[in-house]
Amino acid sequence: MFLSGKRALVTGSTSGIGLAVARALAAEGADIVLNGFGDAAEIATLCDELSARHVGADLLSQEGCEQLMAEAGPVDILINNAGMQHVAPVDDFPVDRWNAIIALNLTAAFHTVRLAVPHMKERGWGRIINTASAHSKTASPFKSAYNASKHGIDGFTKTIALELAQTGVTANCISPGYVWTPLVENQIPDTMKARGMTRDEVINDVLLAKTPTKKFVQPAEIGALAAFLCREEAGNVTGANWSIDGGWTAQ
Ligand code: NAD
Repeated sequence: MFLSGKRALVTGSTSGIGLAVARALAAEGADIVLNGFGDAAEIATLCDELSARHVGADLLSQEGCEQLMAEAGPVDILINNAGMQHVAPVDDFPVDRWNAIIALNLTAAFHTVRLAVPHMKERGWGRIINTASAHSKTASPFKSAYNASKHGIDGFTKTIALELAQTGVTANCISPGYVWTPLVENQIPDTMKARGMTRDEVINDVLLAKTPTKKFVQPAEIGALAAFLCREEAGNVTGANWSIDGGWTAQ
């Protein structure tokens, strides 16, 4: 198990992609710190399953990010994955949703990275993986805050990859297309409203419209890619933005 002795913090890992990444890293022996919201009993079950700890900090604020990093302790692998979405036309976009999306999808990663990097530099080894999105490379209408945050995390990741290039620490993005998780399911009603469509039309004509494979990405596929990026053999993979989107952004 190539991650034995390494501590991995996965933000937003009580659900969806983050949970799949936590499972993949736990399977390779990493000591997992989970983060995210959810039912206390379900989270306790996950902690048992993965021999993990859970820190329930709210990453919308600087204080929450600092609390997470203090309670997690030094981490060797940092997965910035917590994220949220809101779908609305820009002239009707709620200002509080804009601020929250930028805070969680982008600014939280700045805080966790700045607090994680000193230990990684000291150990001469680290892996930073940011869950971006196909929307870090291309845009869709009605997702102004999300697209801005995801293009932002791509630029942030490239910058830290350059800064850390000679320290043994790599930084990469993983950019999924549509993955069937609560985040995708929850945006269907708003998209139906914004576009005047039925549920099936939103799934086929919006969500999978640009996906050549016509399949949702599976969370476990993202976990496997994250685990690869944590291998020694991936030591020269840095500053990259890995698409896992069924060919969407190849078009
Ligand atoms: P999800 O809704 O299933 O999970 C989100 C996780 O973030 C949960 O654990 C939740 O509790 C946590 N979270 C939410 N708000 C938080 C906060 N304020 N503080 C701490 N944790 C918080 O979502 P998902 O689909 O697994 O998405 C995970 C990441 O993947 C996001 O960054 C998302 O933008 C990205 N992504 C998802 C898809 C997709 O199709 N699902 C595609 C591309 C990128």
